[in-house]
Amino acid sequence: SMELADVTSDLQRRNRHISPILSVSYQRPIAMHAAAFQYMYDKVGNTFLDAYNNIPHVGHCHPLVVEAAQKQMETLNTNTRYLYDQLAEYAEKLLEKCPKPLNKVFFVNSGSAASDLAVRMAKAHTQKDKMVVLEHGYHGNTEQSIAVSDYKFNHPKGNGQPSNVIKVPLPDTYRGDFQDKKAGKKYALALQEALRNQSNIAAFIAESIVGCGGQVPLAEGYLKEVYPIIRSKGGLCIADEVQTGFGRLGTHFWGFQTHGVVPDILILGKPMGNGHPIGAVVCTDAVAESFEKGVEFFSSFGGNPVSCAVGLAVLEVIAKEGLQENAQAVGTYYLEQLRHLQQKHPVIGDVRGSGLFLGIDIVHPNTKNTYNHLAQYIKNEFRKRHILISTDGPDDSVIKTKPPLCFTKGNVDHVITSLDNLLKTFMANATL
Ligand code: PMP
Repeated sequence: SMELADVTSDLQRRNRHISPILSVSYQRPIAMHAAAFQYMYDKVGNTFLDAYNNIPHVGHCHPLVVEAAQKQMETLNTNTRYLYDQLAEYAEKLLEKCPKPLNKVFFVNSGSAASDLAVRMAKAHTQKDKMVVLEHGYHGNTEQSIAVSDYKFNHPKGNGQPSNVIKVPLPDTYRGDFQDKKAGKKYALALQEALRNQSNIAAFIAESIVGCGGQVPLAEGYLKEVYPIIRSKGGLCIADEVQTGFGRLGTHFWGFQTHGVVPDILILGKPMGNGHPIGAVVCTDAVAESFEKGVEFFSSFGGNPVSCAVGLAVLEVIAKEGLQENAQAVGTYYLEQLRHLQQKHPVIGDVRGSGLFLGIDIVHPNTKNTYNHLAQYIKNEFRKRHILISTDGPDDSVIKTKPPLCFTKGNVDHVITSLDNLLKTFMANATL
């Protein structure tokens, strides 16, 4: 049904005690009631195809994850000051997925807490304090993680770039300074140049596909050049895998693996608990040992038995259901279909990404100028057609689609047909 729920009273109630700084999606917000796998259901029974949410990684309310949480919740939930099997077992299973020498796990409750801890650990290990960050990067909402997030500190309402932060250009091969086959190397040289007269480097932090920056994959070969430069300066390399991790990219389990590098520190979050709030820092023994010289680390909820049971179930479901392989197969098909659409619709400037981590860059025809108005129109029209997608990037003009990994080719066809029809209608009526 195209019937729309009247959310006016829900919105008024929310606004009474919840600050509007926590913004709500859509001109006409959705009052959600339930969800299953790649579908969400509103209060009046409408079904939405979720082509957007990356946190419910193995599918909304996946029964095996729910069951694991329920069973553990009725048996034991406590903190890491006691011994229980789930903590060691989850650490073992997680590290089976990580290359050597990554060997220690610190569990926390969010990506932000993990970023914050990663920065602290890098500073403790190196005894240095400068952070090298990418333009448009985002790593979390704590003071320490905002300090390494250009997306926040450089926002018009942000507090500006901290004095210990060195910002380097986003290695973007669509809009950036370098777009050719050697772009990765050229951007790495730009970073080397930016660091030429710098000492005191604690770490470099980056995602392999910059999510908030507009789903921008780092130029090929970039990290392979950059990591040795950072290390030669005595710094550590931090990979933020909050969005790119756990098989979403299809070809690899972790984003850094697409660049053939091994970081010193990983930041994990979002998909790790399929919606249950878990995050973690994974690091080398050497980094952990340096951190151990400082004050004791404790997190009330980090690594509790329920969180570990949930995390274990997520890893099991990814393997059992072949979800990384599905991300690869369905994501490749999705990208191909988007490339066909791009041929027909000049407002699609670029389609990019890997697996089920894709961006559609909406532009004014035959330019690379961002077209925010159309991207917002698509987002809101899709909502009316019961498909969830969202937008991001510096001008909020890149459509992001990062669905649960159980997404099917049939789901892709539905998104593609809807986008095709919508753009046809828009272009027929547009005064460009
Ligand atoms: N890192 C990245 C790359 C993220 O996208 C996010 C969340 N958008 C975070 C860290 C912070 O995670 P959380 O919101 O769970 O604190």
